[in-house]
Amino acid sequence: MNFELTEEQLAVQQAAREFAQTELLPGVIERDETQTFPLEQVKKMGELGFLGMMVDPKYNGGGMDTISYVLAMEEISKIDASASVCMSVNNSLVCWGIEKYGTEEQKEKYLKPLATGEKIGAFCLSEPEAGSDATSQQTTAEDRGDHYLLNGTKNWITNGNTASVYLVVAQTDREKGHKGINCLIVEKGMEGFVVGKKENKLGIRGSDTHSLMFTDVKVPKENRIGDDGFGFKFAMSTLNGGRIGIASQALGIASGAYELALAYSKERKAFGKPISQHQAIQFKLADMATEIEAARLLCFKAAHLKDQKKDFGKAGAMAKLFASKVAMDTTIEAVQIHGGYGYVKEYHVERLMRDAKITQIYEGTSEIQKIVISRELLK
Ligand SMILES: Cc1cc2nc3c(=O)[nH]c(=O)nc-3n(C[C@H](O)[C@H](O)[C@H](O)COP(=O)(O)OP(=O)(O)OC[C@H]3O[C@@H](n4cnc5c(N)ncnc54)[C@H](O)[C@@H]3O)c2cc1C
Repeated sequence: MNFELTEEQLAVQQAAREFAQTELLPGVIERDETQTFPLEQVKKMGELGFLGMMVDPKYNGGGMDTISYVLAMEEISKIDASASVCMSVNNSLVCWGIEKYGTEEQKEKYLKPLATGEKIGAFCLSEPEAGSDATSQQTTAEDRGDHYLLNGTKNWITNGNTASVYLVVAQTDREKGHKGINCLIVEKGMEGFVVGKKENKLGIRGSDTHSLMFTDVKVPKENRIGDDGFGFKFAMSTLNGGRIGIASQALGIASGAYELALAYSKERKAFGKPISQHQAIQFKLADMATEIEAARLLCFKAAHLKDQKKDFGKAGAMAKLFASKVAMDTTIEAVQIHGGYGYVKEYHVERLMRDAKITQIYEGTSEIQKIVISRELLK
């Protein structure tokens, strides 16, 4: 077992840290307040290779390992979780899904521009009546010979308006249940496809979360990913990897809040000394640092298993379950350490606390992670 990062991994971490400090930090409070998507910054992330990190270089990707991805996600999420969720969806749901299961034509047409950020991707599984229970898809993809006729509504779609490539899960044959589900690549601009309302959210307010409506959208057969009926398996397999991204996002939110709290505790004086000299504060910092380190190790373990092409489903679910709880606990304590200043926007920790909550909800709630983990334990 080797806990040392390679030089390449350290360089990725450093590049992500510098990018977050110089490009994301200025304006992050305003973007949160005005619910503005960090478009310019995300473009630069694409230019720097952060949007297709693990994609094979022959498809314009960075060819990096998943540990490097965890490191970059942590650094970006410390500063701007709205930018990092865009990065996570593009890397681990959309690019990874197409690279692993797509045809050569799909990779040429869609993966190449997605890996550079020239195009942004979205992953569309959830519906008004199908969240945790993703098998109860109401969106239909009717087989019409050379194309599918897509009808229905998707909810809560990250990158909903910014994206131009959408992986849309839909039911083709209801009698076959989840084996009758397909995943189709839908392009913005296809007739009958409309981006719906933007959600006004508690956190990750810079991320554009939208509903999507499909009315008789003709999607060519060659845009189906995998064989007929593979859509549900595709979605579950892709979400397994996605959870490493969201676990790393949670880790970054937690470590960002911890770093702010540590620095503040050394500056703020109460009862004649820095608050860091009070044992109650020291113990909070000790708990935060220990839990963050444990979350980081779980992320690394899941990433390592994925890179070794071993089964990482349970490890990814454990990493997400634990890191998202650490994100909640740490950000609440970071606000507490800041006292009244923690409750106002200038000090960043209240935003991190609001951002943390989503990591317990999307890409499978914490309850669903426990189902995934216990299923593995009991099989
Ligand atoms: C900001 C944001 C961005 C999102 N981005 C995307 C995206 O890009 N693409 C996408 O497809 N989806 C996205 N989602 C949707 C997200 O994945 C779902 O909200 C999530 O899976 C939960 O589904 P639900 O909201 O329908 O809750 P429900 O499934 O209705 O769950 C409600 C509660 O019941 C619990 N519960 C449900 N079933 C069980 C069970 N069997 N045992 C125990 N407890 C259970 C849940 O854990 C939860 O606490 C996003 C959501 C948000 C809020």
